[in-house]
Amino acid sequence: MTSGGTSGAPRPDERRAEIAESLGEVRGRIAAACAAAGRDPAELTLIAVTKTFPASDVRLLAGLGLTEVGENRDQEARPKAAECADLPLTWHFVGRLQTNKARAVASYADVVHSVDRSRLVTALSDAAARSGRTLRCLVQVSLDEAEHRGGAAPAEVPALADAIAAAEGLELGGLMAVAPLGADPLPAFERLAAVAARLRRNHPDARIVSAGMSGDLEQAIACGATHLRIGTALLGGRRAIVR
Ligand SMILES: *Cc1c(COP(=O)(O)O)cnc(C)c1O
Repeated sequence: MTSGGTSGAPRPDERRAEIAESLGEVRGRIAAACAAAGRDPAELTLIAVTKTFPASDVRLLAGLGLTEVGENRDQEARPKAAECADLPLTWHFVGRLQTNKARAVASYADVVHSVDRSRLVTALSDAAARSGRTLRCLVQVSLDEAEHRGGAAPAEVPALADAIAAAEGLELGGLMAVAPLGADPLPAFERLAAVAARLRRNHPDARIVSAGMSGDLEQAIACGATHLRIGTALLGGRRAIVR
């Protein structure tokens, strides 16, 4: 595990300026994509995905006004959330989640984006109920059957959504997806938009569509994303990590 995606350790004020500049660029891209799609940027929630970056970067992001933070591994997220417990942050767990980690994740996460099987619904519900918290859950949808990056098949989404909506301690927020690697993200995000429209027929309040990363936020916005998960474009390149 490395901390920080840049070589050497920049001074805090330099790092702050670097992140502020990146944030300005990302906000500019969001504004342009919204203008092109006829959408209001206020409809978009920007989640800073801080995996592999230190808690000091989370603190700088919070100082720049960001309130949403995303992490993908419990062993990294848990201490980081603890270090930042004094900050007014919402923590999003966006990575694959094993059922035996559900209890740990439920202790600090506010939103879990990667619910893709019913056993995980049960585990998260037990964990949330035990800790007296409410966890907002998104059903992760697989947009490419050939891949194994997590996610339920579109046909499995309604049953999973119903299970979340009925589970104690859980609240159904909507859907999440990652565009297929190496393919045009636009048709994939269009498929996601169709799944989301269907979901809202039965669960009108489940309006979250978490889609769009550093490389495809424009396409995600064009297809109705409400939440963007942005790492590299805000914080720089990550060192090679095991996924
Ligand atoms: C790392 C990660 C992101 C952010 O990706 P970038 O390309 O660095 O913006 C978004 N979503 C998930 C699920 C991730 O694991």
